[in-house]
Amino acid sequence: MLIVMQKDATQEQIDRVNEEIKNLGLTPVPIPGSQRIAIGIIGNTGAIDPALFFELDGVKEAIPVSKPYKLVSREVKPENTVIPFGDIKVGGSELTVIAGPCAVESLEQCLTIARAVKKAGAHFFRGGAFKPRTSPYSFQGLGEKGLEILIRVREETGLLIVTEAIDHDVLSLVEEAADIVQIGARNMQNFSLLKRAGKSPKPILLKRGMSATIEELLMAAEYIMAEGNHQIILCERGVRTFADHSRNTLDLSAIPAVKSLSHLPIIVDPSHAAGKRDQVIPLSRGAIAVGAHGLIVEVHHDPLHALSDGPQSLYPEQFEELMRSIRMLAGLPLAAHK
Ligand code: PEP
Ligand code: MN
Repeated sequence: MLIVMQKDATQEQIDRVNEEIKNLGLTPVPIPGSQRIAIGIIGNTGAIDPALFFELDGVKEAIPVSKPYKLVSREVKPENTVIPFGDIKVGGSELTVIAGPCAVESLEQCLTIARAVKKAGAHFFRGGAFKPRTSPYSFQGLGEKGLEILIRVREETGLLIVTEAIDHDVLSLVEEAADIVQIGARNMQNFSLLKRAGKSPKPILLKRGMSATIEELLMAAEYIMAEGNHQIILCERGVRTFADHSRNTLDLSAIPAVKSLSHLPIIVDPSHAAGKRDQVIPLSRGAIAVGAHGLIVEVHHDPLHALSDGPQSLYPEQFEELMRSIRMLAGLPLAAHK
């Protein structure tokens, strides 16, 4: 249920609605929006009678929400969520590009890559300090030392930092260091981690699980938002199929589907979808053409010696080419980046 207040509703009237919701044993959640004052209701297992709210002063409408996810749905908030980082507005009319290595390996490695991607026009630097690896014998990341390196990268280049939290303890460390906390595909349904992310003051980049439906992705985002964190960026990064010409299959149809169901920004990770660098630029172009709000791309200056995901990492020159090509595409009236 969504309670939409009249434009001129007083604080007293809003408080009265909140009180009524609490009296039912439910939780009122203010829905941020420029167009209207609205209050979402969460915690109910069955339908709520809208008549309970019609008669309260200042109430314009009481709208039942048909989807299982509420706060992240467009039904509840028709206008797009835009997450500001100074001049950069994720989900706004301009594309956001996050680029960097799969893993933080050394300060020198990160600075070399960060300077190159910044020169090409990236807004954020990515790099995992804590890596969720399939094999326990693979490089697991530099841990806290990696976070210190990322902080140095921000100081030296001005690029904002995106890095992954793989569990509760790491999330507490990562939210101190990062501008955006990434929850990876493997943790998309780690519900206790999602709840913890919902209490973080930092925006969350939530990647789609490798076999998750769109509804499951949106329900995962709902876990975060229900705890109070409304700053969520979704990410399509390919799903597992029978195809063996790529690491995963990039589900481009997820972008228009998510944009119609949710107000949250959605970006695309062509690198983990492709698994091979020669597919990354074409998939990026496809992502922008179907209306993604941005990209997260792996770049390495020496991918042959990368400690993680070298085969899918672009050389810096290829990243420059990618930026040129998506700028051209974004300039064309091909997709509504709205
Ligand atoms: C990553 O971004 O480095 C990563 C591990 O991605 P995913 O969770 O999508 O596999
Ligand atoms: Mn990777």
